[in-house]
Amino acid sequence: MVRVRYAPSPTGEIHIGNARTALFNYLFARHNKGTFILRLDDTDEKRSTKEAIDSMIRDITWLGLDWDEGYLKGGDFGPYRQKERLDIYNHYIDILLQNGFAYELYYTDEEVDSIREEYEKTLKTFSYRKLKENETEERRKSFKEKGLTPAIVFKVEENKEIVVHDLVRGDVVFNSNEFKDFVIRRSNGLPVYNYATVIDDALMKITHVIRAEEHLSNTPKQILIFEALNFSLPTFAHISLILAPDRTKLSKRHGATSLGQFREMGILPEAMFNFLALLGWSPKDNREFFTKEELIELFDLSNVNKAPAIFDFEKLKWMNHKYILDKDLKSLCSETLPYLKDAYNVLDCSERTLLILDAVRGNMNFTKDVVPLSKPFFERTLNSISETDLKALQDPHALKALKYVLNNLDSVEFTQDDIEKFLNSLKDVLQISGKKIYHPLRISLFYSRNGPELWKIFLILGKDEIKERLKEAISLISKSIQEE
Ligand code: GLU
Repeated sequence: MVRVRYAPSPTGEIHIGNARTALFNYLFARHNKGTFILRLDDTDEKRSTKEAIDSMIRDITWLGLDWDEGYLKGGDFGPYRQKERLDIYNHYIDILLQNGFAYELYYTDEEVDSIREEYEKTLKTFSYRKLKENETEERRKSFKEKGLTPAIVFKVEENKEIVVHDLVRGDVVFNSNEFKDFVIRRSNGLPVYNYATVIDDALMKITHVIRAEEHLSNTPKQILIFEALNFSLPTFAHISLILAPDRTKLSKRHGATSLGQFREMGILPEAMFNFLALLGWSPKDNREFFTKEELIELFDLSNVNKAPAIFDFEKLKWMNHKYILDKDLKSLCSETLPYLKDAYNVLDCSERTLLILDAVRGNMNFTKDVVPLSKPFFERTLNSISETDLKALQDPHALKALKYVLNNLDSVEFTQDDIEKFLNSLKDVLQISGKKIYHPLRISLFYSRNGPELWKIFLILGKDEIKERLKEAISLISKSIQEE
């Protein structure tokens, strides 16, 4: 039975790399009909705030990563917050001490830091082992008298070869001399990541540890702890970094870096899901669009790329655009309603709101784009049209066309067919070129030459509003002609 976990350190917004890690774990669990667990690596008291945890939950829920077990859900292997597992960590520290795999070090973190600094200045190599060898009985006594707790250091056998069998990277060989003894519990009583993670992964019966490449170098240390405690090893899969198209670290200047920022800018969750799944994985064909179900069906760690994944913001934008076009209109409305409500006090997904969305979605890259694109349906802004548009209105033919439409509007039945027929007939009736009719009409009704098809603009505005706008345009034209 596959059991995987996403174990964020909730200290701020979820970085896109972590979101992708969570997503790969999710897909792997679902593909294998396994269990997806959410665990909080929240021992950093200061930074693991309630806000950080809440925003993490909000964003992975938005992305559609529902977990089966863990924080807020419970399960047989809890608690699922490291903060609440300190007794468990201490229990295994005792076992490591009893069996000679670790030792107590009677120095505070601050003391160690300053000793290390001294060593660095004199180019001597710092080692916990040496520090321990020179530790005096006197120091231990005074340490205890002050009520301080010793740090716990894991003892590393020298010159030991450790092989990480990684599903993505193959066998990666490390030598224990690269890291030597290391602290597993600080003098403040809190466990370090490498230790707590092992205890949790082992006790929670995690079968596959899928995480970011940056943890590959931590893995040999973790393997030594697994072995010292006779825990069986999970299978590891370290997924590559995400870089910007210029191959530098992804940063704000490339668009955005956190899941929350993408949500806020108006990316649809299903587009984000699809896009992230293809970041470092591909099903070995050239398809770009997949439903969540298809991704679950196809996902396989053996097709995860070793090379860094390139985060192409333009591609995400394009994908989002496609998802907006394909989305069921009512669901698109629920996504965009908050923006429409804010901007124009639109209260529900009425037929008119749906028509508006249908008219503008062809130009939407982000759901938020609905606001500027639909503005002319809600506000009259003839006064702020561009110089060239004003010129187009001042063409003598324009006035004729607008007046004709104004006078004949009542005879048109307001269906797509009839509006189109009416619009198409204008060229013949007026004997004017199409451009000189339709541009002034668009400018008068939609304040721009671009935008939705004219029949849609007609249908959405309705006869009364069209008449008002035409009158306004006609009066603007008449005034400017008089002024000349
Ligand atoms: N809290 C760690 C992180 O967010 C977890 C790493 C792991 O998955 O072991 O990087």
